[in-house]
Amino acid sequence: MNRVLNFSAGPSGLDISVLKRAQEEFLDYHGMGFNIMEVSHRGKVFDALHNGAIEKIRKLYNIDDDYAVLFLQGGGHMQFAQVPMNLYKGGVAEYVDSGVWTTKAIKEAKNLGINHRVVASSENDGFTHIPDDIKFSSDADYCYICSNNTVHGTQYRAYPDTHGAPLVVDASSDLFSREIDFKGNNIGIFWGGAQKNGGPAGVTLVVIRKDLADRVKDSVPTILRYKTQIESNSLANTPPTFGIYMLDLVLDWINEKGGLAGIAALNAEKAKTLYAAIDASDFYTGHARKDSRSAMNVSFLTPNAELDKKFVAEAEAENMIGLKGHRILGGLRASIYNAVTLDNVKTLVEFMREFERKNG
Ligand SMILES: *Cc1c(COP(=O)(O)O)cnc(C)c1O
Repeated sequence: MNRVLNFSAGPSGLDISVLKRAQEEFLDYHGMGFNIMEVSHRGKVFDALHNGAIEKIRKLYNIDDDYAVLFLQGGGHMQFAQVPMNLYKGGVAEYVDSGVWTTKAIKEAKNLGINHRVVASSENDGFTHIPDDIKFSSDADYCYICSNNTVHGTQYRAYPDTHGAPLVVDASSDLFSREIDFKGNNIGIFWGGAQKNGGPAGVTLVVIRKDLADRVKDSVPTILRYKTQIESNSLANTPPTFGIYMLDLVLDWINEKGGLAGIAALNAEKAKTLYAAIDASDFYTGHARKDSRSAMNVSFLTPNAELDKKFVAEAEAENMIGLKGHRILGGLRASIYNAVTLDNVKTLVEFMREFERKNG
């Protein structure tokens, strides 16, 4: 077996121990003679798994009963619409534009015809950093940010103050990567698709302060109301049962790594190693401003597009995949999500040095 070193931006790699456990349980889940995907989402067995996963997430993030933990479908793109449909009260929704994913969310607010305001943007600087002067209003219906900008490789060190308004966080690409204080940050909704740090595509984790779900108007379709899913514990329709099972295995693995604090320390070490290699060289240039650098997605360039292409091809020949930059940014991107090890990063850094020696 020749497993690749996987630097893909999403879906991304899973730890081999998680995959092996899924393999062991594939034909026979806990001695029951079926795969978990073959049984009812309303049966006892799935119920225990489902509620166990919710408990693990509550413990990891220290989330209390004021919040509901939901497993939805439709990915990040559905949240772009579902957030304004459920939270907008007729006042103003405030957004920070930090790149591709917030631009899409803002476009969706526009499509829905809600009154919204972009309070800060780094577009004029090519989204190379988290916008500097973020001033949210205390009376905003909600304040929207993207925690980690997957394409540009930027990440909030700390979330901005909303002065009491609910903060909505797209955490798709740094889910389960560090500790987050929900109450301290006034978090109203915190969501992310599982496919970057939590397992296969198809499950979206949505953590929502329950009182916010009461805002929804009757005109919103039943299945698009958070309230519907809170009241049915995410079982208003058939949930992605196998995806939730895989997520649960990933949660166990995160706990083995010391929970979010342990994972965050590993992630910091990996990021430090890779950025140090970029900074030590005149050949590679990092995309993000240093104070905004992401610990998850490292976007960088060689001196020209030809060499970028060559880099990707030669890396692939060395068993390293997923290093091509996003199509709108070009260049290179190494996504170093939770399942990428420090050793994997060191192997990449060695390859980078060798590539520079030959082509610099
Ligand atoms: C991947 C990603 C999305 C989109 O997720 P889908 O599940 O493909 O809809 C949204 N926001 C961020 C920050 C992402 O990285």
